[in-house]
Amino acid sequence: MTRVYLDNNSTTPVDPRVAAAMEPYLHEVFGNPSNIHSFGRECAETMAEAREQVATFLGASPEEIFFTGGGSEADNWAVKGTAFARADHGKHVVCSAIEHSAVLESCRYLESVGFRATYLPVDRYGLVDPDAAKQALTPETALVSVMLANNEIGTIEPVAEIARICREAGVTSHTDAVAAAGKMRVDVKELGVDLLTISAHKLQGPKGVGALYIREGTKIHPLVHGGHQEKGLRGGTENVIGIAGLGKACEILKAEWQQNAEHERKLRDRLEQAIMARVPELILDGHPDKRLPNICHVCVGYVEGEALLMNLDMEGVAVASGSACSTGSAEPSPTIKAIGIPPLFANSPVRLSFGPGNTEAEIDYTIEVFDKVVARLRSISPIWNRRA
Ligand SMILES: *Cc1c(COP(=O)(O)O)cnc(C)c1O
Repeated sequence: MTRVYLDNNSTTPVDPRVAAAMEPYLHEVFGNPSNIHSFGRECAETMAEAREQVATFLGASPEEIFFTGGGSEADNWAVKGTAFARADHGKHVVCSAIEHSAVLESCRYLESVGFRATYLPVDRYGLVDPDAAKQALTPETALVSVMLANNEIGTIEPVAEIARICREAGVTSHTDAVAAAGKMRVDVKELGVDLLTISAHKLQGPKGVGALYIREGTKIHPLVHGGHQEKGLRGGTENVIGIAGLGKACEILKAEWQQNAEHERKLRDRLEQAIMARVPELILDGHPDKRLPNICHVCVGYVEGEALLMNLDMEGVAVASGSACSTGSAEPSPTIKAIGIPPLFANSPVRLSFGPGNTEAEIDYTIEVFDKVVARLRSISPIWNRRA
């Protein structure tokens, strides 16, 4: 059966070059990077190289890159670590209403331990208004966290502007760049943020490893207390295998992200144009142009999102309905709620997300299947048949 993977924002296949870079650390190179003997040193060297590769990818210096156990951990660290570090100065944090659950739930947790949190609304494209961020700042504000691009609808946020407002106010700024990295230019100096999150498995790397960029001088508490690893800020023997993979993935993307983005945009536009022309009563979500090149997010009227996902899956096409992290709940995701989709469409958010490995033939297959599945589901829908 034809199988087409269009869920690259949930996770990506590992690039074979990344897998090859990780291979030695599963076998002969096994030392603990904290040890000073030769076995330890070879692993410490691997980590230093990976730190350099990640730093180069983000326009940072290696001393500002801290490895974590993935994007969620880095987000938790950024939000709670800065809030705790600045708690004597004030107990207020700000984030957008459409952050990934790793940021949203960290802010909710802070609320449960005596902090105040402000969730910035977005417009119907999912854009945060920098003026609203400015209005939300108080003398107590420790942190503002607004994602670089939304992982569901792909909207690119005005992070540089928000970071500038924060800097002028003496507030720490964080951006979750997990969805954005590898799809658009990401340079910490241009963005002007103090903290930035990436995750390897969204970048053709392995799962369970990520990094937090921490600008030199940023006040942050450790999240994982333990040994001296990561300058004493993130204890625990390092995931050398994963870190080698993250480094390689960043090195590859540094050279290839533009051609990948162009390829993904072409496939995305081909699919969007075709389904918009063929399938009536369809809403395209996200900002028309301030949007990642690899995401197509649609709400299909008179159809239920889960049914659409399952029927597409039966035809071999893997997509996401809402966000992978919120599957299991019948509630629309915070992003879908925040952008205000009309009720007849709000039950059917579907995200198709592309990667460098997708082909035009896969897109053409998907277009046929999408059209067929929507028509089939609507033919058995009483509300579709009764519509005016
Ligand atoms: C996937 C994702 C995360 C979480 O990263 P993990 O490595 O899976 O923990 C955080 N933020 C965004 C925007 C994501 O898409």
